[in-house]
Amino acid sequence: MTKVYAVGLGPGGKEMMTEEAVHAIEKSDVICGYTVYVDLVTSMFPEKEIFTTPMKKEIDRCKWALETAQSGKTVAMVCSGDAGVYGMAGLLLQLLHSYSDVEIEVVPGITAAISGAAVLGAPVGHDFCVISLSDLLTPWDLIVKRLELAAEGDFITCLYNPRSKKRIEHLTTACNIMLKHRSEDTVCGWVKNIGREGEEYRICTLKELDNEPIDMFTTVFIGSSQTKLVDGKMVTPRGYEKHEDMFV
Ligand code: SAH
Repeated sequence: MTKVYAVGLGPGGKEMMTEEAVHAIEKSDVICGYTVYVDLVTSMFPEKEIFTTPMKKEIDRCKWALETAQSGKTVAMVCSGDAGVYGMAGLLLQLLHSYSDVEIEVVPGITAAISGAAVLGAPVGHDFCVISLSDLLTPWDLIVKRLELAAEGDFITCLYNPRSKKRIEHLTTACNIMLKHRSEDTVCGWVKNIGREGEEYRICTLKELDNEPIDMFTTVFIGSSQTKLVDGKMVTPRGYEKHEDMFV
């Protein structure tokens, strides 16, 4: 049996990779993935064979990884954040049945909702959800329905793939849906290039969010009705303050 590791690299730098992710790559003969993510690790593993594919070639990339494993090489398929969160782990597992003597091991990584939350403070301290605004693989109607229900359910909502050059209006729609259920002063935030060069963030209101410099390298956080600004940090209280006796 040879292995394909589906490795979550975390958001950027080496410090945010798990030790298990480093070991999985060390044990691999080949690193493969989307060019941008492979570039994040090539300097750490200069002796490894590299195979990169552009965006939108995900099926080819996974088939290549599985074929290469079948030929006897151990492969690390690298993804940013977590390999199972809008990553390649699911697709690899779906394709596996066509390959013999290959197994897949999923190695978790810190997803952008978690690494970005740490930059802003503690915004996801209560029930939260993650919604991708990309309609490349998901019908837009379904995305709208999920936004409506997240807004109605008062979930803290993390938006992935919030705004591309081609889909400027998706974030505007998301903000308008949230505004139907939440005040325009709702505490929101965004973090760009988490853990990478050029990391940037801002905490703002729901009213301001649509006009912020948000792109595809950004993760957006829309607070629940309970989210507050505490000493410049975005915090969603868990509710301890309602039990003051716990603090004495
Ligand atoms: N597997 C990744 C998500 C891939 S979807 C993960 O678990 O994090 C791509 C989206 O994730 C981007 O559009 C952005 O919204 C978010 N994202 C991933 N890495 C990021 C980073 N370093 N900084 C900010 N946002 C990031």
